[in-house]
Amino acid sequence: MKVVVLGAGVIGTTSAYFLAKQGHEVTVIERQNSVAMETSHANAGCLSYGFTSPWAGPGLPLSILKWTLTGRSPLIINPNMSIETIKFLYRMYKNCNARSYEVNKSRMLRMAKYSQKALIEIESDFDFNYEQRKQGSLQLFWDTKEIEKSNRDIAILEKFNIKSELLSTEDCVKTEPGLKYVKNKLAGGIHFKDDFTGNCYMFSNEIYKKCVEIGVNFEFNTDIKSIQINNNKVSSVSTNRGEFNADAYSVSLGSYSSRILSKIGIQTPIYPVKGYSITLPVLNDGDAPQSTIMDEKNKIAITRLGDTIRVAGMAHLTDFDKNLRTKSLDSLMRGLDLIFPKSYVSSEDVQFWTGFRPSTPDGPPIIGPTPFANLFLNTGHGTLGWTMSAGSGKLIANLISGINPDISTEGIDMSRYSFSNKIRKNHG
Ligand SMILES: Cc1cc2nc3c(=O)[nH]c(=O)nc-3n(C[C@H](O)[C@H](O)[C@H](O)COP(=O)(O)OP(=O)(O)OC[C@H]3O[C@@H](n4cnc5c(N)ncnc54)[C@H](O)[C@@H]3O)c2cc1C
Repeated sequence: MKVVVLGAGVIGTTSAYFLAKQGHEVTVIERQNSVAMETSHANAGCLSYGFTSPWAGPGLPLSILKWTLTGRSPLIINPNMSIETIKFLYRMYKNCNARSYEVNKSRMLRMAKYSQKALIEIESDFDFNYEQRKQGSLQLFWDTKEIEKSNRDIAILEKFNIKSELLSTEDCVKTEPGLKYVKNKLAGGIHFKDDFTGNCYMFSNEIYKKCVEIGVNFEFNTDIKSIQINNNKVSSVSTNRGEFNADAYSVSLGSYSSRILSKIGIQTPIYPVKGYSITLPVLNDGDAPQSTIMDEKNKIAITRLGDTIRVAGMAHLTDFDKNLRTKSLDSLMRGLDLIFPKSYVSSEDVQFWTGFRPSTPDGPPIIGPTPFANLFLNTGHGTLGWTMSAGSGKLIANLISGINPDISTEGIDMSRYSFSNKIRKNHG
């Protein structure tokens, strides 16, 4: 079968890999000149199989209030809010209760766990380096209240057989020796033993090379304008370089998915939640992180990637504004200084980056069929697209091929949004 994949971020590239492995003739259409040049470029690098949570949780509204009052908020909302921002916040707010949190977290954990298996499958297919480490990740607690809150998460994790361990301050320092400078400020931590870390950009490029080797065709510098529908099916994809036809189509355009899909009546509530990262060279190993450290209070993640440290975080709701906000760079530097003060060579060497997390208000991605028989979605991965990439690629390949999926798609496909079904009337 001929399959066109729209978008070559980590999700599109991994989809192409699994589709090609199943014997399909695959073309990937991408507007950039290579893979992973947008959101998949410089993310936090955590493969958070255990630390998988939706943002929308019972404590979020109160946290937003506190952050606003302290003036040091990891969430920044543009005061001139667009309708899209208001809709996203409202839909997220509706998920800020214990019941929805548990349902959404369980769905995300299902996808994350499957993704870990799929990543191990890719690693067994061929040898490649993406600065991977398999040393778990550590969430820090600054006070005992945070420890109490984590008990709710541990109960859900246990249901999914995900290994986590509460650590004393001493054990946190044993796990991450670079934490010795903040030992007295910490209350403890939780260690997710099964988490990995790795460079998403390098991974995508390695998968890209393998894809080319097994026959995938990449059409770079190609801007997708629209999807053409004929007889309740996609007939082609229109681009600045002409039309592309296939038997099946998979949309993995990240935050831009909704723009293209809304033109054919598919409403996906994906919002571009802007985040930032900084990358700096390591000064000495003993003072630097070894894996990923999450500071949920300040909403940052710090990861060791090769000879560098990556710090990422912030949620900036400002639609598609790509500006690099200096205040965010300062916040990330402050976060690093607080936890690993002697870890980096010099703040002069910092690489500053921003990307749009393709976020759904409830948290899980949108993977699966649409009312158009040959159109599939693999998008909306939000804060965890790198974590879920391998599983998402395999799942979409199975769905397109008509192979029974290895996991349930309940709550992961678009049918969970009642408004998305209106397209049946409009276009069906
Ligand atoms: C600061 C930050 C930190 C993060 N940290 C982590 C983390 O530690 N772990 C984790 O799991 N996830 C993390 N994420 C999330 C993760 O990076 C994303 O979920 C993931 O990269 C999304 O991949 P994607 O392929 O869907 O989107 P993208 O990488 O954005 O790919 C979409 C592609 O579609 C292309 N495209 C869009 N429109 C068009 C068009 N009209 N025509 C042609 N091509 C088009 C784009 O050029 C792009 O290449 C983080 C994100 C941010 C911003």
